Amino acid sequence: MTDVVFDAATLVTQLVGDRADGWDRDGRLPAKLVRSLAAKGLLCAQLPTLYGGMGLSSMQNGELTAHVGSLCSSLRSLMTSQGMAAWTVQRFGDAQQRMAYLTQLTSGSLAGVAFSEPSAGSDLSAITTSIHAHGDTIVVEGGKVWVTGGDYADLLVVFGRYANGVAAVMVPVDAPGVTIRRVSDPLGCRAAGHADVRLDTVRLPADALLGGAGLPMEFLITAALTYGRLSVAWGCVGIMRACLKATTRHASSRKQSGKPLADHQLVARHLAELLVAEQAATRCCQEASRCWDSGSADLGAAVMVAKHFAAGSAARCAAAAVQVLAGAGAIDGHPVARAYRDAKLMEIIEGSNEICQLLLSKHALAVWS
Ligand code: FAD
Repeated sequence: MTDVVFDAATLVTQLVGDRADGWDRDGRLPAKLVRSLAAKGLLCAQLPTLYGGMGLSSMQNGELTAHVGSLCSSLRSLMTSQGMAAWTVQRFGDAQQRMAYLTQLTSGSLAGVAFSEPSAGSDLSAITTSIHAHGDTIVVEGGKVWVTGGDYADLLVVFGRYANGVAAVMVPVDAPGVTIRRVSDPLGCRAAGHADVRLDTVRLPADALLGGAGLPMEFLITAALTYGRLSVAWGCVGIMRACLKATTRHASSRKQSGKPLADHQLVARHLAELLVAEQAATRCCQEASRCWDSGSADLGAAVMVAKHFAAGSAARCAAAAVQVLAGAGAIDGHPVARAYRDAKLMEIIEGSNEICQLLLSKHALAVWS
């Protein structure tokens, strides 16, 4: 860990302390804490310092994301959304939009990213939200679901149909016609403020529309998702590190049949598999971040491998961790119980396991057949 990442990670450790389980049970993060992290540029730490970001590389941001993920997946989820929103503006905004929106995101404002709709989940080509230009006004009409951080957000990056393609528009949540409804009692990442959003004839100034409007869906949405997938993958590494910490401590201290659990070979196997999964997922994430930082054409595939492998590994590791702790971990509020619920969701978001497999199989055919 470089010094700057170490300092940021130390700050997050101090701020989170031992409160993540309570936040999870309450279904809410302290808004003041989240905004103070946003104001330090820590939730979108890859942004250049010009915009108030920390200017971290993808590799450094990944290590920071894993650290936050090891403490609290709800907070890490907000970090993923904020970073994805920032990356979308950085990638598609013009100079004025970048300066206006990105400095907002590093001054304490929070953002969510809205792709999914009731009838468009895995298949985003089915989105029906429309974005129209009327003179110097943009009108947005539609509905979005499951927007991470939507309940905390000041701004939403909303993707919708525009001309023959897709566009992304910056929607302030206090614009007339925007209604936010919190998703109640999600399975995991319970404090991440997931929300459904109604957009009823929302009128915005023309400069709310980001560049690339009307381009094919794959171009705009894939760019945003690539950031999100890599961030989720690093977050999964964090979940595995939290599971390793909890299981190794418990297995060394708890005795059954006259010896520590760790000395029972079937328990020791769980520990070994946890370690291998964490190490292998870390290497996949490092390779993807290396591709990001070097501008490699292999980025898309490397990110997909990292996301798919890390999410599946985190789900299996969290299940193994609950198994090792057994009665001690099978309690709402215990870190491994939280990891078990949070990790399962990582197999659904930013491209479900099945969608990742379909995309990876196409890559395998292209490269190996
Ligand atoms: P469906 O698309 O209905 O899929 C159901 C099942 O069928 C899945 O197992 C899927 O893999 C499988 N399936 C679907 N199509 C195929 C196929 N062609 N081949 C094989 N299998 C298939 N959305 C946002 O826009 N912004 C967010 O911030 C956001 N955050 C989220 C956070 C959480 C915790 C969750 C649960 C969801 C979030 N989502 C968000 C929505 C998320 O992107 C979708 O849930 C996801 O894309 C899956 O869509 P779906 O739930 O409609 O499932």
